This record gives sequence, structure tokens and C-alpha cells, in this order.
Amino acid sequence: MRIGNGRRAILGTCLSLLGAVAALGQTKPSDTPARHVQQARLWETLQKLGEFGKNPEGGVSRVGFSEADLAGRAYVMGLMREAGLEVRSDPAGNIFGRRAGSANLPILLFGSHIDSVPHGGNFDGDVGSLGAIDVVRALNEQKVRTRHPLEVVVWANEEGGRYYAGLFGSSAAAGLAPENVGERRDDAGEKLNDWLKRMGGDASRIKEARIAPGSVAGYVELHIEQGGTLEEAGIPIGVVQGIVGISSRKCTATGFANHAGTTPMNRRQDALAATAKAVLAVREEVRAEPGRQVGTVGWMKIEPGATNVVPGRVTFPVELRDLDAQKIQRIGERILKRFETIGREEEVQIRCEAQDFDEPAITSPMFREAIKAAAGEAGLKTMELPSGAGHDAQNVARFAPVGMIFVPSRGGISHSPLEYSSPEQVANGAEVLYRTILRLDGTLNAEDAHN
Ligand SMILES: [Zn+2]
Repeated sequence: MRIGNGRRAILGTCLSLLGAVAALGQTKPSDTPARHVQQARLWETLQKLGEFGKNPEGGVSRVGFSEADLAGRAYVMGLMREAGLEVRSDPAGNIFGRRAGSANLPILLFGSHIDSVPHGGNFDGDVGSLGAIDVVRALNEQKVRTRHPLEVVVWANEEGGRYYAGLFGSSAAAGLAPENVGERRDDAGEKLNDWLKRMGGDASRIKEARIAPGSVAGYVELHIEQGGTLEEAGIPIGVVQGIVGISSRKCTATGFANHAGTTPMNRRQDALAATAKAVLAVREEVRAEPGRQVGTVGWMKIEPGATNVVPGRVTFPVELRDLDAQKIQRIGERILKRFETIGREEEVQIRCEAQDFDEPAITSPMFREAIKAAAGEAGLKTMELPSGAGHDAQNVARFAPVGMIFVPSRGGISHSPLEYSSPEQVANGAEVLYRTILRLDGTLNAEDAHN
């Protein structure tokens, strides 16, 4: 919708919907769908952001709460101001850039993060953050005025590279920030709150970073897939069904440590042999039903851990992930039963304690449809897929409906200097974000316009 004379807010959704649909439906004479975001401009800002924390081998180490992070944040805030956004940061260090809407409605929020893992790439988080800013620039150029106020967000310390505080900013927004998180110190003895203060935040006021349910109409995050599904399928846009839930257990197999030379094979209580069976049982039970669920035993601690001693104790985790919480639970129960059987066979006791269960965060079906329609208008094919990686959107889902747009990652590689998505793939994602925001602006809170 283009800006009228400013008095049309009350005229209602019908007009704004029709306007938006008409604007989106416009095609060039060649029948190529119109583009709003600018590929070259977006790519240039991605390259520039990549200078902050740049590594000689490529990629960046722009870990949250570091000098490079601070410099990157300053750059991004500058871009937001250039795009006409009113910029502020909250006590958790989240950055918000606001663009006014024509109606008194909750905000439409979109963005991502700019911090990286150590020796990470230039695309994880950056694509969604800079893509969101380019969407605002395109809205300005198209002279579009939305009904909802829009806010671009850059969440603080998503990766949790320091202080074991991943999804830091969005956790605070969801009211989940751990008590006394500001007192945490890293290996060098530096306090989290000292960094937070340099970012304009303050851990003692972190509760004020909580975003009240109802104040956000919805959140959309553009992100690289970080897996190889889209590339293999040759599909440019992924519509995320949800962010998988994660259950983790810590298990201990207890046998009897004894001399490896004098203990006959039929008298052993070998904790490692039992654990080996257990690892395979995890894989078998996860594979025993159709679906994309995954299960992993990621490490093992073997005691006493000597060449000439039968292992007496092994500690190992069992991690399960899926979009369906019941499926995770069901498979987990089957695995525990298998462990009992293996324990009897091996005369080893296998005990597991549940450590964590992060609930799956399902995206809004309405947002998924909006993303698909937006991509269709832009001439881009879509496929639905789950996100096996965690994202800030999973925290936002606790207080607002969310949607996520994925673009392909070359070779399915992420958290690596080799992480790459092409200028075109990145711009495709931002274009779909642009059109999705306009669609949601038309359809969300549509009844308010008729009052
Ligand atoms: Zn990310």
C-alpha cells in the first residue's frame, strides 16, 4: 500500500488489503515478478558487516559480548538510522528499530541476530538482520505505509559463545532470563553485566526487557537453513514448520572395573560393551518409525579408562529432537526399556536422568501460508521443513505467533567459514520477507480496521 494523505487509517483493511494485493500483483511486462529489496545493496551490507570480527581463513569470530560484536552492533544501528528507523536498545542488549504504522495496533516484529560462533560464517543471523533492514529501505522506496508499526530486531548474543547464555536476548524478551545471569564470569574473569552495560543494557533491569504478550502481532525471522535440504531439492525458499524440541538425558552404565588379563570373558560386567549396545539401540529406536526425528549419543566418559582395565563405568548423553513432543517422549521410553534389557544381558546397570526438555516451537499456520503466498508471488518455489537448529523465534513463540523463512546453505554447511548463500538466494529470502510482512499487515488484526 502506498501512502495516501494520512487520513485513511480508519478506511479499513478492505482498502489496505486490496491495495497491498494490487501492489504485490504488479508484474513487469516480461512477467518477471517485481523485486523490492535490492540484491546488490543487501550483499554489500553483508560484506561490510563481515569486516567486524573477520578471520584470515574467512568468516568471522563476532562472538556475543566482544569488541567485534560491539563494533558490528554500532554498524547495524547506523544502517537502521539511515533507513529512518527510531533505534533503541533494551536492558538485555536487544536492538530495536521502529517504523510507525498508520493504526494503533501491536507491532509486527522481524529480524535475527548478528553475533556468531567462534570461527563462524558471514550468513548465520546476518542474512535475517540485514535482510530486515533492506525490507525497510524497500518499503521507504515504495512509499508503503503499513497499518501496524514495524520493528526490526537484532537479538543479543544468540549463539551464547560466552557465558553459556545462548538465545540470551530473546530469552529475556520471553521472561526466561536466568536469575543473576549478569554475575556470570567467563574464563578470563570478566563479568557478563560489564559487557551488557557497554551494550547499553543492564542485568539488574533485565526483567524490563520482557515483551508483554499482546504487544507483538507477530514475528518473522529470515535465516539460512544451516542444513542441506533446500539445496538438495533445488528449492529457494523453506517455510519452517517449527523449531524442534530437544530432550536430553544423562545416562550412566555401571559395571565392575577389573583386570583385563585375569577376568574371564564370561565373568565380566563391562560397562563399555553395554554402552556400545545402548548407542546402537538409540539409533534403532529413533529409526523405528517414519519421520525426521533424530537421536544422538554425542560423547562418552569411560572410567577408569585404561588399556588394561575392563571399563567399570561409562557416562553418556542421549539427545532426541523432533517437532512432535509426544513422539520424543514415546521414543525416549522405548530407549529406556531397551537399556533395561541390555543391562540384564550385560549384568550392567544403566540409569538415565532427564536433564532438559525444550518444548518444540511450532510456527503459526497462518504465517506459513503468508510466506508461501508471498514466495509464490515472487515466482519462488517453497517447501516446508523443520528447523533442527535453535533460533530466537522459539522464544518469541512463547508470547507471539511466529514464522520463519529459510534460504539454502551451500553444502548444508554452517557455523563454519565455509558457510555460504549466494547473493541471489539471500535476496530471494529478503524479498519473501518483504511480501510476507505486507501480507500479514493486511490480514492480522483485520477486524480492528472495521471498528
Ligand atoms: Zn542463527
